[in-house]
Amino acid sequence: MMSSLERPLRVLLLSTSVGALGSGLGGGVELTLHNLAQALSLKGHTIKIVAPAGSIAHFPLVEIEGTLQPTAQNEGRTAAIAMPANAVLANMWVYAHQVQAQYDLLVNFAYDWLPFYLTPFFDRPIAHLVSMGSLTDAMDAIIAQTIAQFPNTVGVHSQAQAATFSFGAECRVLGNGFDLSLYQFCPQPKPYLAWVGRLAPEKGLEDSVAAAQITQKPLKIWGVLQDHTYWQHIQQQYPTAPVTYEGFLPTEQLQNALGKCQALLMTPHWVEAFGNVAIEALACGVPVIAYRRGGPAEVVQNGKTGWLVEPDSISGLVDAIARIDQINRYTCRQQTEATYSLAAMGDRLEQWFAALLSQSVRPA
Ligand code: UDP
Repeated sequence: MMSSLERPLRVLLLSTSVGALGSGLGGGVELTLHNLAQALSLKGHTIKIVAPAGSIAHFPLVEIEGTLQPTAQNEGRTAAIAMPANAVLANMWVYAHQVQAQYDLLVNFAYDWLPFYLTPFFDRPIAHLVSMGSLTDAMDAIIAQTIAQFPNTVGVHSQAQAATFSFGAECRVLGNGFDLSLYQFCPQPKPYLAWVGRLAPEKGLEDSVAAAQITQKPLKIWGVLQDHTYWQHIQQQYPTAPVTYEGFLPTEQLQNALGKCQALLMTPHWVEAFGNVAIEALACGVPVIAYRRGGPAEVVQNGKTGWLVEPDSISGLVDAIARIDQINRYTCRQQTEATYSLAAMGDRLEQWFAALLSQSVRPA
């Protein structure tokens, strides 16, 4: 496809401020930022990344010192905006303000109030890639205000995520894109299941463990142990479940281990904005069994690349596990190539940026 932009752009990507890139604390945002940088770079755009100190990136990187931002997932709707002393988030945006003239566009990956609030004070346009659904009134209000003043500046990953916001119809739905060459297709699985994600309440690991206990099918768990108490509770609640915690692995090792699994279970209790791990599993030929809710419900083709289960139904999961063999693993891999490649994502990003820049009323 021809580029929808007139010339290559100089783009500054501002990472999440809840963790360094490579730590896993940033959840799917870490891989999303990396993939998006790759997709844009393949299209000829120049990329620089700004991220908390200690980050690892495969692109030119500016590391910023400061205190990490607390995570917003479980604070409740009326939670106030939190800002620690010497916040890395604030320091990253001070840096961005200083260097903005060297760039055509800034892209914000933080689900935080400050970058939205600062948008009118910048000369350069800011694209905001929102990584979660509606969580707090304060965030909803500032995103709504930004989108009203600067149309086309807010991107999301799925229709279901957009629908959690009153302004969802004005968000650009981008899906996601992956370097599929990193994910090896594995035709013959071993007899166990996978669960991949941050070990935190919103991700609903306990439902997958419950299904493993009933079916007595081994379940391997990969991801950052974000909430230790939560994980201890699960182990106490399901003492005879055949589950093992396998730690947090870099992509290359994760895909190797994940590819050998019979199916990936995705049982989140929140509206998962996208669920990167669904694509990573499918890319290896691993069918996905997911609740029919949020991003995974838009990714999984029921009966073709996995099974969609009534949300929060453990018996539904058990039934789906019994039907894994009906899914053709090669079809799973094919689905990712058609929709979730870096090239496909690069096209969607360029169309988004072209629309955003054509509406920008800022000085050139
Ligand atoms: N992940 C990883 N190594 C692991 C487990 C998970 O790199 O051992 C990454 C995975 O590739 C994915 C992210 O963690 O990009 C989880 O993202 P997802 O979108 O599924 O959920 P989120 O954490 O954003 O809610």
